[in-house]
Amino acid sequence: MHCPFCSATDTRVVDSRLGADGDQVRRRRKCGSCDERFTTYEVADLNMPRVMKSDGVGEAFNVEKLRAGMMLALEKRPVSMVDIDRAIQQIKKKILSSGLREVESHWIGERVMQELRELDGVAYIRFASVYRSFNDIDEFVETINLMEKKVATDKGLS
Ligand SMILES: [Zn+2]
Repeated sequence: MHCPFCSATDTRVVDSRLGADGDQVRRRRKCGSCDERFTTYEVADLNMPRVMKSDGVGEAFNVEKLRAGMMLALEKRPVSMVDIDRAIQQIKKKILSSGLREVESHWIGERVMQELRELDGVAYIRFASVYRSFNDIDEFVETINLMEKKVATDKGLS
């Protein structure tokens, strides 16, 4: 990396040390041009990427929305919360390990389908058949919620 003092490009690492908690590396660098020393820190980038919706609007990744979509598909299915949480962790892991700063909401939807297929065939078909006709999970959740409200109204339950 460039020297912050003189902007020279030839700096080298003279010392490398793992932080006390093991999740950070501290490096001492020396500039080959002006001899100044400086410190850099290296940490894992564990920020979830932004989610780009099909209308081009970006938003922060929201695990609760993801869960809501999956729970709708898994309603009354014999799948434990532990397995659902594990599937959500898997999806988050895949998103993180993609190393992308932005992911398309469709790409996340595909990952959700993969996990549902493993969890429960019926939930997978429910999600896939409905989700594929929507632009993203938001729209899916909204529409299902509206449909449920309507059913409740028709039955005179609300
Ligand atoms: Zn320098």
